[in-house]
Amino acid sequence: MEQNEEEEFGQLTFQKPEGIFCALCLEPVTNFICVECLGEEIKKILAFKKSGLTDEFRDFHENLVEHFSFFHNKDVCIKCRNVITVDICVHCYINEVIELVSGKDKKLEDEIRSYFIG
Ligand SMILES: [Zn+2]
Ligand SMILES: [Zn+2]
Repeated sequence: MEQNEEEEFGQLTFQKPEGIFCALCLEPVTNFICVECLGEEIKKILAFKKSGLTDEFRDFHENLVEHFSFFHNKDVCIKCRNVITVDICVHCYINEVIELVSGKDKKLEDEIRSYFIG
């Protein structure tokens, strides 16, 4: 049994010699900051803006982490020093957040957009 698992893992690394690809946009992931740290920044903005979307965002974040933690990524976050385990690029994460808040809070959407995208 153990041997099979090893083989499978070997194949997986063989198929991905170039590194990690974002599960959403399929571009190489070059994150230096993990989604947990990004999520914290978003939470701060939500709290500062007294947005009613805090709970909604927490659910969204947990859901996303759960679905996209493939442990392919082995980079270390420059902020919290944890190993990055979610295979989503910063760009897609922020886009997902913007999608979540858009239509609910336009001001907040603009705020997040200018904070992370510029
Ligand atoms: Zn992406
Ligand atoms: Zn981090």
